[in-house]
Amino acid sequence: MTNQNHSFDTRSIHIGEEPEYLEGSNNEVVVPIYLSSTFARKQVNNHGRFEYSRTSNPTRLALEKRYASLEQTRFGLGLASGLAAETLLLFTLLKPGDHIIGFDDLYGGTKRLLNQWTAQYDLQVSLVDATRPELIEKAIQQRTKLIWLESPTNPLLKVCDIAAISEIAHRHNLLVIVDNTFLSPYFQNPILLGADIVCHSVTKYIGGHSDVIGGAVMLNDEKLYEKLKFNQNALGMVPSPFDCYLVLRGLKTLSLRMERHQSNAMAIATYLENHSKVARVYYPGLPSHPQYTLNRTQASGFGGMVSFEIKGGEKEAVQFLESLELFTLAESLGGVESLIEHPALMTHASITKKERELAGIKDSLIRVSVGVEDITDLLKDLDLAFEKI
Ligand SMILES: *Cc1c(COP(=O)(O)O)cnc(C)c1O
Repeated sequence: MTNQNHSFDTRSIHIGEEPEYLEGSNNEVVVPIYLSSTFARKQVNNHGRFEYSRTSNPTRLALEKRYASLEQTRFGLGLASGLAAETLLLFTLLKPGDHIIGFDDLYGGTKRLLNQWTAQYDLQVSLVDATRPELIEKAIQQRTKLIWLESPTNPLLKVCDIAAISEIAHRHNLLVIVDNTFLSPYFQNPILLGADIVCHSVTKYIGGHSDVIGGAVMLNDEKLYEKLKFNQNALGMVPSPFDCYLVLRGLKTLSLRMERHQSNAMAIATYLENHSKVARVYYPGLPSHPQYTLNRTQASGFGGMVSFEIKGGEKEAVQFLESLELFTLAESLGGVESLIEHPALMTHASITKKERELAGIKDSLIRVSVGVEDITDLLKDLDLAFEKI
C-alpha cells in the first residue's frame, strides 16, 4: 500500500486509489465514479460511511486524499472550481470589517472577487507589490486577517518570498493563503515554506487536459479543516463525481507533464529572449528574471508559463497571434495543448487601461501557456508568425 514516504510520482498515481480503499469494494484498480446522490442506512439514527453526496462522496474522498498527499498536508478538500475554493476561504475566514492584503498581480478573477464582491460585506482590501515583503508589513492594519499570495503571478510571472512573508504574517497573527496553481504541487509546496493554506484552480495543471473545472484547498489545521468542510457542505460548493474522476486520472501524469511543460517553456523563453522582434521576456527560469534566485530556493522548478512583449504595440501583437497555427488563441492555461493570449484584450480586459499600465500589462504583452507538444513544431510555428509581422 502506498504511503507518504513514497515519492511524489508514486503518490500522484496511487494515493486514494488503493484497491482496498473502501470496505466491501471489488478491489478495483481505478476508483469507480460513484454517481449515487444518497446512501442507504440500516438504522434511522446511524448512517454508514457516506450519507449524501454533497456532504461526502467516495470518488471525491479518493481525490481529497490525493490532494492532501501531494501538497504534503493533513487535509484536502475538492471544490467545484478554483473560485469556489477561494469563496469558501473568504466566507469561512472573514467577518464584515476585516481587512485582506493581496499581491497586486493576482489572477483577474481573484482580483474581481476581492475588489468587487467583498464591498457588499464591508471587507477592506489592499493590493501591494509582494515582491517586497516590507510593503506587506507596512500594509498590516488592526483588522487585517489574511494575506493572499500567488507565486509566480499572472501574467507577469512575479515571484514573492513565501517564507519571509509567512514569518511576517505569523508575527502579526495573520493567516497566509497561497494560490499554487501556476507551479502545481509538483514544483512548489507553500505549506512547507510556512504558509497556512494552499488553494488551486484544478482546472489548470492538476486536471491538465482542459476538460474539467475544479478547485482544491489543502491545509494542516484540523479545526479550520472542520469549519471549511462544514461550510462546503452548507454552501454546496462541490465537484461532481465525474469531474473528480477526471482529476484523479489527470494527476497520474502530473510530474511527466510538468517536466515537459517546463523544458518546452525554457526552450521557448530562450528563443524569445534572442529574437530581434521581442522587447522583453518574463520567465522565472531565465537568469535575467529579477527573482530567478528566490524562485530557485523556494521551488524545484519554474513551470510552463511564459510572457513576452513584442516590439511595436497592439497591432503587431494581434497580427502575431492571428498568424499562429499550432498555438490556440484562447484563455486559460495548464493543459497539454499550447494556448496563447493577449492579456490586455482578453484575460485582463475587465480592468481599465490605466490600471493595466500601472500593473505593467502593456498592449504589446503576450502570454503563452506552453503545452507538451514537440518543441520543434512549436518553435517553427512561432518563427512563421514572426515572419508575418
Ligand atoms: C484560473 C485560475 C483561478 C480560478 O480558477 P477556476 O477554476 O477558473 O475557477 C484562480 N487562480 C489562478 C492562478 C488561476 O489561474
